[in-house]
Amino acid sequence: MTSDDPTLNILLVEDDPVHAHLATAALHPAPEGWDWRLKHVETLAAACALTETPDLILLDLTLPDARGLDTLHRLRERFAFVPVVLLTAVEDPDIEATALQAGAQDFLGKDELTARTLRRVVRYSMERHRRQQDLMRLSTRDELTGLCNRRGFLTAAEPLARLAERGNRTFLVFFADLDGLKAINDTHGHHVGDEALRDAAWILTHSFRSADIIGRIGGDEFAIFAPDAPPETIEIMIRRVSKWQAERNAEPDRPYKVSLIRRQAALASAAGCTLLHACYGCAPGSRARTTSQFRRARAAARRDSDASRSPVPE
Ligand SMILES: [Mg+2]
Repeated sequence: MTSDDPTLNILLVEDDPVHAHLATAALHPAPEGWDWRLKHVETLAAACALTETPDLILLDLTLPDARGLDTLHRLRERFAFVPVVLLTAVEDPDIEATALQAGAQDFLGKDELTARTLRRVVRYSMERHRRQQDLMRLSTRDELTGLCNRRGFLTAAEPLARLAERGNRTFLVFFADLDGLKAINDTHGHHVGDEALRDAAWILTHSFRSADIIGRIGGDEFAIFAPDAPPETIEIMIRRVSKWQAERNAEPDRPYKVSLIRRQAALASAAGCTLLHACYGCAPGSRARTTSQFRRARAAARRDSDASRSPVPE
């Protein structure tokens, strides 16, 4: 569902033909004021292979190629931000509690697959999801630059990194600093420093692809996660940063020059994951994220990367 297309795309992942038929019949036609389209697949592999991102997923946890909460985890790796309603055959409060923590929006017993119940669950789930997304946007954006903040960057990058690891695909992680921010602040005032940070964000946004995740992860620090990026793109991306930086600096009436310093660029799953987890300050697999751990890990990453620290060429 986009602003251009108000149709809600619902994906039903269910291998049982009887339940699939009941769900399909219950959702057809869409009620007054709603417009939705249902797509049905029978396996997790078929769901994950879809190129179009659905707006809502109705998920059976017991499929030919996945069982239990693993089904939910793997589907959410593929469609991290899509609300999921679980279709359950048996009531199990423990599984339901764990699934809610893992991101499921709601549950529906398979004996409740009536038009009234299913439509209500779909509408309520979408509304809850929309409100959660609004809150998420507020808490994951850097207000000054409009980029992701540190939490937003990690929230968006981590599932993509895990997906890449699972699929043995490459990705890149870049760290860059805006050089001389303190001097700009001291000489011209913080409002000019803020302008320089916005310039840096502008340069990075123009240099990287729309699929890349760009975050301001500290005062003058930026990180970029580039999924599915082959090794040769490192130099291409740095050249693009250089080009857009020169363009920005050529504009008249700026009391400063924007100079981005490349801290580190790491390729592929292993090195990239290590860097990404350095942001968390924890070992892969652990979810502990305290500020002091984060600071220590980032300091360590800086020491390790001093050899590769270099200004983006003019
Ligand atoms: Mg099943």
